[in-house]
Amino acid sequence: MSGHEIHGRQRHPWSLLALVLVLVCGSLALPGADHRLDPDSARAARPLDPAPPAAHAEEIIRRTLDRQSAALIGGDERGWLRDVDPPLAAEMHRLYRNLRGLRISGWVTDPAGLPAGRDGPVWETDVRIRVCFTGPACARDHVPRRSTDLLTASTAWRVSADRAVVTRFAFDGARGLPSRPTPWERGTLTFAAGRRVIVAAPRGVLRPEAWLAAAERAAVVADRFTLAEPRVGSYLVFLAGRTEWRTWFSAFTDRDVLGYALRPSDTSGFIVIDTTKVRPGAKGESVLRHEMAHIATRYGPSTRVGEWATEGIAEYVAWTGRPVSEYDRAGDARALAAKLRWTRQLDLGWSHSSALRSGYYGMGFFAMRCLSETFGEARMLDFFDRMAHGGRGPAQASGEAFGVSWAAAERTCAPRIRAWLRR
Ligand SMILES: [Zn+2]
Repeated sequence: MSGHEIHGRQRHPWSLLALVLVLVCGSLALPGADHRLDPDSARAARPLDPAPPAAHAEEIIRRTLDRQSAALIGGDERGWLRDVDPPLAAEMHRLYRNLRGLRISGWVTDPAGLPAGRDGPVWETDVRIRVCFTGPACARDHVPRRSTDLLTASTAWRVSADRAVVTRFAFDGARGLPSRPTPWERGTLTFAAGRRVIVAAPRGVLRPEAWLAAAERAAVVADRFTLAEPRVGSYLVFLAGRTEWRTWFSAFTDRDVLGYALRPSDTSGFIVIDTTKVRPGAKGESVLRHEMAHIATRYGPSTRVGEWATEGIAEYVAWTGRPVSEYDRAGDARALAAKLRWTRQLDLGWSHSSALRSGYYGMGFFAMRCLSETFGEARMLDFFDRMAHGGRGPAQASGEAFGVSWAAAERTCAPRIRAWLRR
């Protein structure tokens, strides 16, 4: 079986993440207040209005986090490690290398409020972190859908009058959040980067270089089907071995899936490949095309689309340039069509049974391929775009993109698909 896309609402309540983000955004309205203070007047004011210890600790921790963030984004590892306790340095070095390898482009931190009425010198606080990769810095006004873009680190700090040193930093501050652990939280990654793709793999286990050429070729194809601007900065492909497949992103996988695409937010997308089941040959390249197609066609603020179309267009991209007669799911589609006594419906439902799912992928592929061959590829993409980014159903999108009713489009495609099924 090929891969599939993980949809935002399958298991993940928005409300919790939205609440957390609101808190993050709330803090973002305040940055830089300390920079506007004249240091002398600040010092002069202190004896009259002494800052409570918690407020002092929070301010200095916040400043240190801001400096670390700037160092991380700027590629300054010495700056990143400057206020790290020596026993923690190896762990922070590992995290730095992982994040830099993924071309981190945003690391927006916000410590939760420290308990008032206490005094240090050791302070513990959960730090909320927004992460963005390979693209523009994290947009402040956009709501990530999943926790891969929004992490919480439990931290401890030794705070003195003029310095905060981090003594603990662990991504365990929000147990139970979905889509974790991310590949960069644990272990050490190794990378192979090309023009459009970064391939990452656990160091010492898998060789990302072995996948780079296939991934670059797949990206060139997927890029042609980009439907929203700005497009994804680079495709991030994580190669999973047996252990990683079972743990990364909470193992959002069916047993027969070879890979999946995860879109945690409007501005991020990850691909995970199960390297125990697929190699970087023709099959691997086809899986990569399929998963990259999910990111190319659904990047940006997108609306819900039926799986028949979401998977159908990913299969369409994976099989672009190849004849339908070679399509590897035709047999599964034929079996499903017989079981359903299919006549002409293109927007079929979906099956959560993996036994039937390959057939649904196949029928989705036939639908999108037929719409493309009948009305032209540009109109087929317009049709999908109206559903994926415009919130239209097939009936409305058909009228707008094809100029015919959905029933007419289905009637037109039925004989062609029946012929494909008979082969
Ligand atoms: Zn898919």
